[in-house]
Amino acid sequence: MSYPTLFTTPGVRAFAEAVDAERQRQLAKFGEQHHPDLSGDATSQCDAREMFDQWAQNYRAINAGTFDPGDQDRCLDWTGILLEEVYEALAESDVARLRAELVQVAAVCAAWITDLDSRTTQPNPVVAYSAGARTLRCPRCRPNPLGSEWQPLTADDLEHGGICTSCGVDVLIGAQQ
Ligand SMILES: [Mg+2]
Ligand SMILES: [Zn+2]
Repeated sequence: MSYPTLFTTPGVRAFAEAVDAERQRQLAKFGEQHHPDLSGDATSQCDAREMFDQWAQNYRAINAGTFDPGDQDRCLDWTGILLEEVYEALAESDVARLRAELVQVAAVCAAWITDLDSRTTQPNPVVAYSAGARTLRCPRCRPNPLGSEWQPLTADDLEHGGICTSCGVDVLIGAQQ
């Protein structure tokens, strides 16, 4: 499936594609859905939104670090950031403001997922070791133990490729297998 290039923020395209796929699963399972924003009579809706507004205020204070000034280990976390936006959305009765808050919820989800994905990105792997310009070894032929004269190299260090001076393998091709 191809998508037009509309996204400027790193990670948002991958997020949108994942949301699109999930929406397809939801539509297959539930069809198009229409529900009230909040059920119950006017008084109970008003009470519920006041409670959500109070929780939003609490999370704003937690995230700003002012909720409990005596807490020495306070730390901004994604749970607090998302809950602040969720409760702000739930506290809204105005449709335009509710919509704007739901966009903020989605944007925090995108940011959180981008952060999760950044933790699992593999660092540039070591493909060879060198001890001076004329001596290159693939990981299989590296001396063991590795003396301090041997420098680990990644593919970025080997712009012009590299041949193991022990076994003759092309270390960049070896790294892809
Ligand atoms: Mg908000
Ligand atoms: Zn080798």
